[in-house]
Amino acid sequence: MSEGEPVTEAEMHAWVEREAEISGFRLNPDERQLKTVVKGLVRNRERFGARYCPCRIRSGDPEKDAAIVCPCVHRDEEVATGGRCHCNLFHAPEP
Ligand code: SF4
Repeated sequence: MSEGEPVTEAEMHAWVEREAEISGFRLNPDERQLKTVVKGLVRNRERFGARYCPCRIRSGDPEKDAAIVCPCVHRDEEVATGGRCHCNLFHAPEP
């Protein structure tokens, strides 16, 4: 695996695992859904240059859209209030 920005699907998967661990969240236990979001992050990175959220609409303004680079600014509140982020990627820790 290369250092720095995750590029491939395997690297992105490793990145979301690390990010969940650092943040104290769990990843979606549904492997299929998890894979879909990981693929979406890889695709957005390839197409638009950053890990833009696959479940949100970019405005096209990089400054504005920085808020929706994964992990987006909404994640912690969404997990705190709904138990998961909008993409269903990060889940609250087991009670
Ligand atoms: S909603 Fe979830 S997957 Fe989407 S950017 Fe936010 S944290 Fe990442």
